[in-house]
Amino acid sequence: DLGSDVEIDAEIDEEIAEDHLLGGLLIDSTDDIEVPERLVDQVIGQEHARDVVMKAAKQRRHVMMIGSPGTGKSMLAKAMSELLPKEELQDVLVYHNPDDGNNPKVRTVPAGKGEQIVEAHKEEARKRNQMRSFLMWIIIAVVLGYALLVANNVLLGILAAGIIYLAFRYGSRGSDSMIPNLLVNNADEKSAPFEDATGAHAGALLGDVRHDPFQSGGMETPSHDRVEAGAIHKANKGVLFVDEINTLDIRSQQKLMTAIQEGEFSITGQSERSSGAMVQTEPVPTDFIMIAAGNLDAMENMHPALRSRIKGYGYEVYMDDTIDDTPEMRRKYARFVAQEVAKDGRLPSFDGEAIEEVILEARRRAGRKGHLTLELRNLGGLVRVSGDIARSQDADLVTREHVLEAKGRSRSIEQQLADDYIERRKDYELQVADGYQTGRVNGLAVMGEDSGIMLPVMAEVTPSQGPGQVIATGQLQEMAEEAVQNVSAIIKKFSDEDITEKDIHIQFVQTGGSGVDGDSASITVATAVISALEDVGVDQSLAMTGSLSVRGDVLPVGGVTHKIEAAAKSGCTRVIIPKANEQDVMIEDEYKEMVEIIPVSHISEVLDIALEGEAEKDSLVDRLKSITGSALEKTGES
Ligand code: ADP
Repeated sequence: DLGSDVEIDAEIDEEIAEDHLLGGLLIDSTDDIEVPERLVDQVIGQEHARDVVMKAAKQRRHVMMIGSPGTGKSMLAKAMSELLPKEELQDVLVYHNPDDGNNPKVRTVPAGKGEQIVEAHKEEARKRNQMRSFLMWIIIAVVLGYALLVANNVLLGILAAGIIYLAFRYGSRGSDSMIPNLLVNNADEKSAPFEDATGAHAGALLGDVRHDPFQSGGMETPSHDRVEAGAIHKANKGVLFVDEINTLDIRSQQKLMTAIQEGEFSITGQSERSSGAMVQTEPVPTDFIMIAAGNLDAMENMHPALRSRIKGYGYEVYMDDTIDDTPEMRRKYARFVAQEVAKDGRLPSFDGEAIEEVILEARRRAGRKGHLTLELRNLGGLVRVSGDIARSQDADLVTREHVLEAKGRSRSIEQQLADDYIERRKDYELQVADGYQTGRVNGLAVMGEDSGIMLPVMAEVTPSQGPGQVIATGQLQEMAEEAVQNVSAIIKKFSDEDITEKDIHIQFVQTGGSGVDGDSASITVATAVISALEDVGVDQSLAMTGSLSVRGDVLPVGGVTHKIEAAAKSGCTRVIIPKANEQDVMIEDEYKEMVEIIPVSHISEVLDIALEGEAEKDSLVDRLKSITGSALEKTGES
């Protein structure tokens, strides 16, 4: 058994499990949930990555992990180090080389031996020094005695004694340089090393030799004592983890590759102008397993040879962002809360309802019906903020109220910006959420990853001087322009009037500098233009999002949950969304009563809902159905 099934030490009621937020777990608080000892058993989801890591640990293969931040890449790398045999660990010692002081010698011994060797050397040096000072005092006594008693000259006696003292002191420095430098010490390690070299500079990654300001004259530090291990050396027999592998400079990537290939790597001073650059040790072992991580474009930007090295001698895995929402999984998420509480060490336990609220949030953040988010670093953040709030109130347990408050506090920067923006626009009455207006439609956009804003679109039609154009203004980005292109095809087919003689101006009402995801605005643009062309009002208590095909189908878009919430916050009472997104809606309870969600699948439905005045509207809708309907059939056949 590879430990993929994690037992929870609490009672489970299978009868209620299916609909129960805690998957049938009968617990009072996170105290009732046992946290597994091994890190690999604490990993939630990522079944595939976990199996790969366990296999790679046995076969000593490198692994490339691609996926979103906070999904457990470094956790798995660390878990892997716990799975590696501890018996093979080594200590590394650097010795003075009497033949060439700038080429220190390197010796490898079993873990724990290094300290003993250094101790033995120190003991020997101590004895030697004792012998020397014993000898020194005898000689001084003899000389002093001679000077005082025979030569009867105090000054000469003191002078001679001083010279003898200094000669001994100076002479003994050499014997200290015989004590080796314990470069890598694994004496007290409970598992194989795990070294995180993410963002490490060359010295930290590859090792370094410190500069010696004295360099000679008896004050110098011997070169072997200035040698420092890099992550590649500390990771020997363990795991070297490098996230954002593409940000490592190419020279370091090349050297990393050499270390992987040779299994050893000499240490030299990294700074060219330092005296350390003159020193180069014998090779130091670098027999590690490399776990390189990053997002998809990290892979494209990494050194191709390094990538093929890992690929050829190891595995590549993709991390999941979400996982199926099953009773078993929800039980594991409950355990996740317990894990994070245990990891932090200072947080109160969570009661059942507080855990439920975290699981609800995991559902919501998944952005997909029937799934839970695996971006667990962020969810862990929510757990910590909730716990901190409870702690600041001296509460014994973290309750639902604490989690709800934490959700408000742990809003991302984008969310805070978006909320602030909505507030400001309310002040300036840029927001219109009732009545009818011609050519104006409340669109919805996403800011950042997790916040929506309402983004009104205005359209106006004017006689053209030359051939008719679609002109877009406002802070419009490439994507939005594409949306305009897409809808112009439908509009051209649709209009009775000769559209080639008209200019259509489309304006996105001040976006506050944020990126607009344009494609999801295409039903908004189409509605605004048709309203302007036909001079029919649009319901302003309505907001909409949806992409449009050339056939008039409303296509799914991203971020519907956040968009709906933004519409509600802005005061709209109805929101049109693509039918295909219906299952992605996971709005919080407080918004459920505020807005009615209307899923649609065709632009004619949008007009039917949005436009004013029955008679005109009906004729427009019919016309649109006939045009886009026939277009639809044509495409359907081909
Ligand atoms: P990554 O390396 O992918 O950016 P980490 O492994 O550093 O993410 O995850 C950060 C923290 O989030 C972990 O220490 C752990 O507490 C939690 N976490 C992330 N993914 C998981 C997971 N799959 N299972 C359990 N906890 C996780």
